[in-house]
Amino acid sequence: MDCLFCKIAAGQIPARKLYEDDHVVAFHDIAPQAPVHFLVIPKKHIPVLTDLTEDDKALVGHIAYTAQRLAAEQGCDEGFRLVMNCNEQGGQTVYHIHMHVLGQRQMHWPPG
Ligand code: C5P
Repeated sequence: MDCLFCKIAAGQIPARKLYEDDHVVAFHDIAPQAPVHFLVIPKKHIPVLTDLTEDDKALVGHIAYTAQRLAAEQGCDEGFRLVMNCNEQGGQTVYHIHMHVLGQRQMHWPPG
């Protein structure tokens, strides 16, 4: 499959991996927008959030659980932000769902 994040999950493209289990992989974002910026992705290829099915509910929970646990490990004691961009207007550029975890700086609202 010609998917960048599937290739990262499979180890075919190098990435600075933080964590991996049977269902998810976490790696540092190649263009960090905060002192801590990593992505948590499912190993399963799901292009956009609106492709999720009932069967994927536990997987999404696992992504969020992993994100907060790794944020704590990365020292984001005072807070962090989770972001999932969906489709073109949501700012998605890689069509394999992923959760951004950003931390170690003050976040602002509304996002751009
Ligand atoms: O939410 P969006 O699709 O825009 O985010 C994709 C993210 O994937 C970007 O933050 C980009 O820097 C990151 N990326 C990466 N490694 C790559 C290609 C993209 O970390 N090889």
